[in-house]
Amino acid sequence: MLLAYAKHSKIMSNENKTIHEFDFNLICEFFSYMERQGPGSPEVTIKALSFIDNLTERSCIADIGCGTGGQTMVLARHAPGHITGLDLFPNFINIFNRNAERLGLQNRVKGIVGSMDNLPFQHEELDLIWSEGAIYNIGFKQGLNEWRKYLKTGGYIAVSESAWFTDERPEEIYNYWMEHYPEIDTIPNKVAQIQKAGYIPVATFILPENCWAEHYFAPKAKVQGLFLNKYAGNKAAEEFMAHQSREEELYSKYKEFYGYVFFIAKKIEQ
Ligand code: SAH
Repeated sequence: MLLAYAKHSKIMSNENKTIHEFDFNLICEFFSYMERQGPGSPEVTIKALSFIDNLTERSCIADIGCGTGGQTMVLARHAPGHITGLDLFPNFINIFNRNAERLGLQNRVKGIVGSMDNLPFQHEELDLIWSEGAIYNIGFKQGLNEWRKYLKTGGYIAVSESAWFTDERPEEIYNYWMEHYPEIDTIPNKVAQIQKAGYIPVATFILPENCWAEHYFAPKAKVQGLFLNKYAGNKAAEEFMAHQSREEELYSKYKEFYGYVFFIAKKIEQ
């Protein structure tokens, strides 16, 4: 939860501009050393894509909150069409475009800087909206509702989002989520929100544990070592690291109660 931390520590507010900018750069720098900025895996991206059947070479795809493009490049290798990756952070987009070039995908994969609450697309332009571990920044319901207009009728949306697996959960993990992202909800409730927003829910599946352990926490631990050396004695960096460790501790303690879920849905006429 990259920006959940930022919001939590009031980095997003204007209370203290210097700290704001400094911490922000620190967080971006940290995550720019990682291939992914959230839980996921190439297998999961390919599995989600397997539910989508409308793509051709002329398709327009947007990957919103793409980060450095770990999942975008997988998508590009397995789907036809043009992909626009969009992220708030220029540093991530620079890395994204370098990756696209390195893989020879630059003719159909482009990263642009922008915000998910003000997308630069035409109405009904897109065949597919992709977003892994990022829609929480605008909120699941708001994202579904606001992004819908950019999709063609019959177009798809595929997003991964945190969800509760059970109706009840221990207080400690409940409180943590209420503080960081109160929109977390059960899978059936999320599916009902999808239907209400004007889509047919096509598929949902839980991201396997290796998406967290192998593809997120393990690379993060490496960067954490590097970072603590580089920023030894820096209070903001140390606090940020502590928050990251707490996120991981809670996941290993409570992983049967929550996780990331992929939701795939199709826009219908309303
Ligand atoms: N999809 C990537 C990154 C997920 S982390 C992956 O799965 O690895 C969430 C991403 O959302 C970060 O890259 C962050 O910079 C981006 N983000 C946060 N707020 C945003 C906004 N308002 N508009 C666009 N991107 C945003």
